[in-house]
Amino acid sequence: MATRTPLMAGNWKMNLDHQQAIATVQKLAWALKDGKHDYAAVEVAVLVPFTDLRSVQTLVDADKLELKYGAQDVSAHESGAYTGEISPVFLSKLGVTYVAIGHSERRQYHGEDEAVTNAKVKSALGAGLVPILCVGEELSVREEGRQVPHTLAQLDGGLEGLTAAQVAGLVIAYEPVWAIGTGKTATPEDAQELAEAIRVRIGELYDAATAQAVRVLYGGSVKSSNVAALMTKPDVDGALVGGASLDPEEFAKIARYQSHTL
Ligand code: PEP
Repeated sequence: MATRTPLMAGNWKMNLDHQQAIATVQKLAWALKDGKHDYAAVEVAVLVPFTDLRSVQTLVDADKLELKYGAQDVSAHESGAYTGEISPVFLSKLGVTYVAIGHSERRQYHGEDEAVTNAKVKSALGAGLVPILCVGEELSVREEGRQVPHTLAQLDGGLEGLTAAQVAGLVIAYEPVWAIGTGKTATPEDAQELAEAIRVRIGELYDAATAQAVRVLYGGSVKSSNVAALMTKPDVDGALVGGASLDPEEFAKIARYQSHTL
């Protein structure tokens, strides 16, 4: 079986300007150092607003921090007449590792559908970035018991036309929309149900090795008090953390879930 390094990715959303970003990343690096964070055991990343990227890059490079950083969206195009958009090539030049694609807030407020997420996944891969493809159901879908087919349809659409090698390097974030920013966390069993379903589907679409290689995160009101239980599940390889990632001490505690007692 492939060994997957857990990933804790903080999605800052539209919070923290570039000066606040510097202070927050410095505090996070200190908080992780305090607890002797083992980056080989758990990878830590922050997904910051575009305007913070250059400052975060400068800090990470200057202080040789092991933190990874990323963006929250990317253009489906490499260059051209796309006013207001950000090219994946520009992100790559800023040392970006990860880019969130199809976050539920992008789907809800910007009408991003599977065609758009698929095009963005391809553009990110083309520039050497690692897409974190976000999928997950709204409350009404869960109430109808259709969370698995709904989420897998988003997955299928996002992966359309990709090779097994491309998919093996992806991160998929299962984020039930009803759990994002609401304080309602899915149970570890709910998270496992979908993480497993996602892995099984990738096995069907590609092969077992690809399914075992891909990392599946859970996202939705993850905190230091619930992360360890979520991480006991075999198909959950980390978390996409929104609100709690804005507090460096709390995010560092989340990243150190392995030392928590259950
Ligand atoms: C998110 O923004 O992806 C998220 C999961 O947010 P929160 O942790 O605040 O629910």
